Amino acid sequence: MNGIGSEDGDPPRRELTPEARSACAVGRERLIQHVRAEFLKCLYTPSICPVKNCQSPPKCKAAFLPTISKLCLWDTSDGDMHVLETPVDVASEFCKECRSKVLLPFFEETVRKLWNALPTFFDLPHWDELVDLDV
Ligand SMILES: [Zn+2]
Repeated sequence: MNGIGSEDGDPPRRELTPEARSACAVGRERLIQHVRAEFLKCLYTPSICPVKNCQSPPKCKAAFLPTISKLCLWDTSDGDMHVLETPVDVASEFCKECRSKVLLPFFEETVRKLWNALPTFFDLPHWDELVDLDV
């Protein structure tokens, strides 16, 4: 992408064009919608928690829906995408079995799908078709 030159003749600054900024904003919104859709799928399948060998079924069952709901409604206004980080604080509300067999695999799968689809959010070709640029 080309930079935008200043009006006083200074060299172009490393600044995104308005079109590129718009594409980034649209891509970010698509990314957020994708993640929320993945969390919603989990919300509609509450039977996945507690797991068969749950160490505290009442506690894990009670924590499941509020936790997933909270993730679906995460505040994106500050630009923070922390919801995609390893959810140690969220997962700590669950027993070891539910954490290791439901929550962490769910997050890992969500992040894997997100990473795989990432270029499409920005109207870019799939990873296999992208080419490294020397910038
Ligand atoms: Zn459990």
